[in-house]
Amino acid sequence: MGKSATRGGPGILRSVPLPNVEFTFDATTTGRARLGRMTTAHGPIDTPQFMPVGTQATVKSLSPADLHAAGAQMILGNTYHLNLRPTAERIARLGGLHRFMAWDGPILTDSGGFQVFSLSDLRRVDDDGVTFTSHLDGSTHRLTPERAMEIQALLGSDVAMAFDQLVDPGLPRAEVEDAMTRTHRWAERSLAARGSPSQAVFGIVQGGVDPDLRRDSVSAVAALPFDGIAIGGLSVGESKADMAVTLDVVAEALGDDARPRYLMGVGSPVDFFTAVARGVDLFDCVLPTRLARTGQVWTDAGRLNLRNAACLDDPAPIDAACGCEACRTVSRAYLAHLFRARELLGYRLATLHNVTWTLELMRRLRASLADGSFDALRTKVIAAFLRPERAAS
Ligand SMILES: [Zn+2]
Repeated sequence: MGKSATRGGPGILRSVPLPNVEFTFDATTTGRARLGRMTTAHGPIDTPQFMPVGTQATVKSLSPADLHAAGAQMILGNTYHLNLRPTAERIARLGGLHRFMAWDGPILTDSGGFQVFSLSDLRRVDDDGVTFTSHLDGSTHRLTPERAMEIQALLGSDVAMAFDQLVDPGLPRAEVEDAMTRTHRWAERSLAARGSPSQAVFGIVQGGVDPDLRRDSVSAVAALPFDGIAIGGLSVGESKADMAVTLDVVAEALGDDARPRYLMGVGSPVDFFTAVARGVDLFDCVLPTRLARTGQVWTDAGRLNLRNAACLDDPAPIDAACGCEACRTVSRAYLAHLFRARELLGYRLATLHNVTWTLELMRRLRASLADGSFDALRTKVIAAFLRPERAAS
């Protein structure tokens, strides 16, 4: 593992002895779609790629061995949650996030901005940062670009995110613009505060669904020496059409910028194709894991709800083409029983299936970019997922 961060005095990062491994990204393009590979201190990531979300230093119900078996290359950890509990300083004392959660692959940490603005009821934003109350116990905390970077250095992630301000895209343009320009100032401060030379830092483009603001944001963020560019503020309630148009605007504005592009918080099968066709390389989303815990699974034939009565007598696996433990060993009938009985194994096996299936879809998507069958695969996935949920076969 080799990556570690040590703590000095309270809140001060004294030394970060990290391997001097360069973050790299190479890609070939087909139209705007890119087929590439990132390298980090903890291994390579083939792109386009999906990152399962490990909010609390765990992808809910899955062990690191499960994640490897599912084909996960990179996972996401949440700065907001991990800093409130068990705290970044404690994780650093225990050897960093990789060692703490026993995941030896690459990790990307978010900056905490999204959770501060979506989870905390009480918050006060000023130009220096955000003061907010913990959703856990109501205690008061403060995040600034500098503190967000310090926390991510303590966690020791391979990719850290700049601290940004999220706003509801439905707010008046002046408020969206105000948050965007603040995000740009915070981007510069995040870069200046980066914790170690081997931790890559991605900047975040904001600007809501206003094309002019998005263009302004791309030119401000892309002008800075970030290792990658993230697209934030989407998948927050806007229409699919607005998302696609905004991704077009961003792709146009980025042009042939060679850095990896990460679309934050997007993870539905159809959205992958919409975004990859517009140059996106990296995704994260809680959708596959969250849906699994409600009994909803994804298959090559579309969505399936294991709580449907028809599943109770169905001896077939979730998806005969899937190689996950659930599909290799048990039936829909058994899983339907587990969900009705609220047995823990049901949540785990459904989660394992959705993560495995999603990562396999990304592998097929990459293969389709390599052999020119991207449009055919996209048509197939859209046909499966835009029709009403099928009954069990
Ligand atoms: Zn499966």
